[in-house]
Amino acid sequence: MNYKDIVKKEEIIYLLSLKGKPLRRLYCLADKIREDHVGNEVHLRAIIEFSNFCRKNCLYCGLRRENKILKRYRMSPQEIIQTAFKVIKLGYQTIVLQSGEDPGYPREDIVNIIREIKGYGAAVTLSLGERTKEDYFLFKEAGADRYLLKHEAACPDLFKRIKPDSSQEKRLRCLIWLKELGYEVGAGNIVGFPGQTLEDIAEDIIFMKNMDIDMAGIGPLIPHNETPFAGMKTIDPDLVLKTLAITRLILNDINLPATTAMDTLMKNGREEALKVGANVLMLDVTPAEYKRYYDIYPRKGTMELEEAKKLISKLGRVPGKGKGDRRVKGKNIV
Ligand code: SAH
Ligand code: SF4
Repeated sequence: MNYKDIVKKEEIIYLLSLKGKPLRRLYCLADKIREDHVGNEVHLRAIIEFSNFCRKNCLYCGLRRENKILKRYRMSPQEIIQTAFKVIKLGYQTIVLQSGEDPGYPREDIVNIIREIKGYGAAVTLSLGERTKEDYFLFKEAGADRYLLKHEAACPDLFKRIKPDSSQEKRLRCLIWLKELGYEVGAGNIVGFPGQTLEDIAEDIIFMKNMDIDMAGIGPLIPHNETPFAGMKTIDPDLVLKTLAITRLILNDINLPATTAMDTLMKNGREEALKVGANVLMLDVTPAEYKRYYDIYPRKGTMELEEAKKLISKLGRVPGKGKGDRRVKGKNIV
C-alpha cells in the first residue's frame, strides 16, 4: 500500500474501520512516516489560557456563554507577560495564547503582549477564535507566528449542530485570511460528536489536506457536565488514535499535537498519540489561580515540563531544539 496515494474518502473510511493486526500496522506506518518527515524531535509549547470569557455557545464547551456557574477571569497583560517570561527562561520556545472569544479583551493589549513576548525571542501562537481580518493583520504585524483555529467539523450539518451561533463559511474565511496573512495555520477536528460518522471524520482529514494546513489539533470530545453533552459516553480511544495516524499518513510533515484531552480519554493518552504520529506536546502554564476556571472540558491532571521530558526520552525521542516551525525558510513552501 502506497500511503502517498491514500486521499480518497472511501479509503480513509476503510482505514478508520481497521481492527487488530492491520490496525497495529497502520499505527507503525504512521510512526515511521512521522520519523521520516519530522524526525524524532517533540516540540514543547507552553500554553497560557488568559481569559475564559466567551460570547459563543458551542454545544461541547464548558466556556459556553450559557454556563452561568463558571467563574470568569481575565489575566492582565502584565500577568501574561510575566508568565511567558518565566517559562521562556525554563526553555520553552513557543508561547500559545488561548482564550474564549472575548470581545472584552482590548485588541491593543493583545498587540502589546505579542510584541513583549516576541522581544524575549519566543514564537507566538494565537488561539483566540474568530476575529476580523484587521485584528489578524495587526496581530501578525506585532509578530505573531501561528494561529490555531480548529475547523471542529468539516461536515456542514454537523458544524451547524455543534456550533449553532457560528457560521461555517465565516470560520473557513478566517482560516483563509490567516493563510493569506502568512501565519502558520492550525485547524483540527473533534472526534466523538453524537451522530458523527466515519465519513464525517474522513471529510475532516480531506479538508485539512486540501487546506494544506501546518498543524492539526485533533482530540476526543470530552463531555462536560454544564453542556448539552453532559453524561454522554466517551468515544472509543482507538478511533481518535486512528484519526491521528491517518492524518500523519496523508499530511506527512505537519505539526501534530498529542492533545491534553487524550489523557482524559485514556490512560497514557498523550503517550499513545506520540506513538502513532504526534510530534508536539502543549503544556499548560496558566497560573494555578486561573487554571481550574479554564474549564473547556474536565481534565485529568496536568503535565509538568520534567515529566514531559521524561516521557519524550522514554519513547527514544528528543525535545525540539528550535522553534518547531513547519515552514522553515527554503523548505516546504508550496
Ligand atoms: N475559543 C477558541 C479557542 C479556545 S477553545 C475557539 O473556539 O477556537 C479551544 C478548543 O477546545 C476548541 O477548538 C475545541 O476543539 C476544544 N474543546 C472545547 N470543548 C471541548 C470538549 N468538551 N472536548 C474536547 N475538546 C473541546
Ligand atoms: Fe467559546 Fe471556543 Fe468554547 Fe466555543 S469552543 S464556547 S468559541 S471557548
